[in-house]
Amino acid sequence: MKSNPLKGFASRNKPDYKPFKFDVKITVFSMIIIIFILDVFGLYPKAEFNYLTNLILYVLFFAAVYLIEMKKDDLGERVINRLNYLIGLLFLTLACVSGGITSPLKWPVLILIIMLLTVRDFRTGIIMAAAMLAVFLKDWQKFAQQDVFMYAVIIGYGAMVYFRDLKSKVPRSDAETLKRIETDKESMHFKTVIYNLLESLLLLYHDILKPVTIMYFIRDEDSGGIFRLTMSVSTKETEVIKDYSFDIKEGLLGTALNKNMFFPFDAKGARMPYYAGRVEVKTAATIPVVLNKVIGAVVIDFDREIDAEKDTVKERLKDLTGEIVDIMELYDINHKAISKEQRVSRMYEINEKLNLMEGKSGLMNNFFNEIKSFDIYSGYLAEYAPEDNSFEVSDSFNYPPSVKGVKFNCRDNEFLRYLMDTGKSFIIDNAAQRNINLNFNRLNLDKNFISLLKHGNDVYGFIKLDKEKGYFFSEFEMRTLEMMLSRITVMLENTRLYEKIKRQAYHDGLTGLLNHLTFQEKLRESVDKKNKGEIQCVSLCVLDIDFFKKFNDSFGHEEGDRVLKKMAGMLSEFEKNNENTYCARYGGEEFVFVLENYDIYAAIKIADEIRAYSEKNLKGGNDQEKRPINLSIGVTSYPEFARDPRELFKNADEALYLAKEEGRNRVKSTLDVKKIDRRKR
Ligand code: GH3
Ligand code: MG
Ligand code: MG
Repeated sequence: MKSNPLKGFASRNKPDYKPFKFDVKITVFSMIIIIFILDVFGLYPKAEFNYLTNLILYVLFFAAVYLIEMKKDDLGERVINRLNYLIGLLFLTLACVSGGITSPLKWPVLILIIMLLTVRDFRTGIIMAAAMLAVFLKDWQKFAQQDVFMYAVIIGYGAMVYFRDLKSKVPRSDAETLKRIETDKESMHFKTVIYNLLESLLLLYHDILKPVTIMYFIRDEDSGGIFRLTMSVSTKETEVIKDYSFDIKEGLLGTALNKNMFFPFDAKGARMPYYAGRVEVKTAATIPVVLNKVIGAVVIDFDREIDAEKDTVKERLKDLTGEIVDIMELYDINHKAISKEQRVSRMYEINEKLNLMEGKSGLMNNFFNEIKSFDIYSGYLAEYAPEDNSFEVSDSFNYPPSVKGVKFNCRDNEFLRYLMDTGKSFIIDNAAQRNINLNFNRLNLDKNFISLLKHGNDVYGFIKLDKEKGYFFSEFEMRTLEMMLSRITVMLENTRLYEKIKRQAYHDGLTGLLNHLTFQEKLRESVDKKNKGEIQCVSLCVLDIDFFKKFNDSFGHEEGDRVLKKMAGMLSEFEKNNENTYCARYGGEEFVFVLENYDIYAAIKIADEIRAYSEKNLKGGNDQEKRPINLSIGVTSYPEFARDPRELFKNADEALYLAKEEGRNRVKSTLDVKKIDRRKR
């Protein structure tokens, strides 16, 4: 059986978790119906307790409520909700049995109890308590003894819950935060995501259209005609007036916006009003953003004429406003108090979009920025390397830069093993008390949220996010985070795919060495280096396996391929051991070895080392027979023996031909070719 390293101190986030919804409306309604029936039909069992019995009963009741409240963290939301419901009923029963609710405040009292127990609406609670007190002070003769007890309990309970929530929810924050209930925080977070998305959009279109500045203005809902600058991306960012706004009825922008859907205009010599200083622009354009009515505007300006590109600019800006409308639609829906679930799914949509627009570092920065509103103290992304089954830290936030590049091997780490086995996110509680190496000895980290970035069977990495003592990961936060992580997974997936395509373009499929084309390009670069004086010379070796056709015929093509791979392995070793050299597969069984800053003599020496090594160590064949792999090599050098890269290769090939001619398994150079040429003359 797999051991579970989280046992006893960690909780796992079940992916299929559906939060238990305590239906407040049904509860309130059913309680009111019960008491109404009892009241109307006079069904109170009138016990008429004496003062002492009443006191004892209410004290017992209060003790029960107190116990439940104090145990709240251990019991879980579901149990607590049920207990609250029971307490509500118990309280009503108690109120009835102890003599009935006789006071003039019977109904408000009932509603207040239920409000406190279920929705914890303290503001309404305080108003109603004040009203109750006023009525009580005015008409206290009309109140029965049990009513007084009841009010005392309600007020005591309310105060207890209120102070308890204060203490546990927000450990060390200012008075402002105390008032902020969870939903506020979420909608703030949602707003951050929206703004990030808008910003990414503007960045993207700034990149495409290359203007000086691109701006998004939101129309003020109250004043109607005022457009306020919400966001700008500019090459002159410092010049843009941050809180600039304009009136639709006047000025350059107002007039332009009033004109048409897309309105480009000549701005030569004009002073654009949203710049603090003088910024030269030649053309500017406005386009309204329409969602049923005009909800905003995009303003863009260029330091060039755009006559030729007018149609493109227009099309792109239309795309942009379309995207903005999509986003603002989501934002608007959020204003109308959508449910948490809806919000999560909206956020998911937004994240999907962000995916398409950001590079890796941009995306990670954005992600770490967005989650700051979650009270997350620090975190990092570690990418998976399937070759050695390890994770390597690649991007972090609030960690020292030295963590980058640190590797965690799955074999040595129980958490990572567990993560890989289950593929599920989990929380490590009390992290500080356990020596978790993933935390780099940071003792202030109390909770870690760890989630695997995985798509299908492919693992891309994991994210670890940390909170300090006194902070918690709420269910909503965890689910939102998981949604956001899917975007990082897609990004890593794309990166890996991109790298694969890149590898295919530059490398040879069989041996993994650089391919013919890349070699040509690199050789040209090497020659350029010499021409710029960065190096003295470039030498080139062309290597060809001897009698390879025969080898293939004797042992088959597959064994031939294996030899080619061995050859590539050997050349890579030589490349590693000799600085400023590189090798490539030129084609078939021909390879090249380039040596920067080695003259022809140094190159011949290394070429012969390669030849000798191959003769001695590389073998191929079958069980009956192993043959040594012999090489013929031609060597030449730039600039001494060639005028350009083309001639460099031709001369090396000529030397190779000589090596073949003289009996193979040897190194020949242009020096030898020249000697023969002289003799011939
Ligand atoms: P030598 O160079 O010594 O003159 O003789 P050779 O037989 O090696 O020369 P040749 O250039 O005529 O033949 C090259 C052979 O290399 C032909 C082909 O069977 C083999 N070859 C080329 N590419 C591959 C490959 O990708 N895999 C395998 N297995 N063989 C290849
Ligand atoms: Mg050949
Ligand atoms: Mg050959």
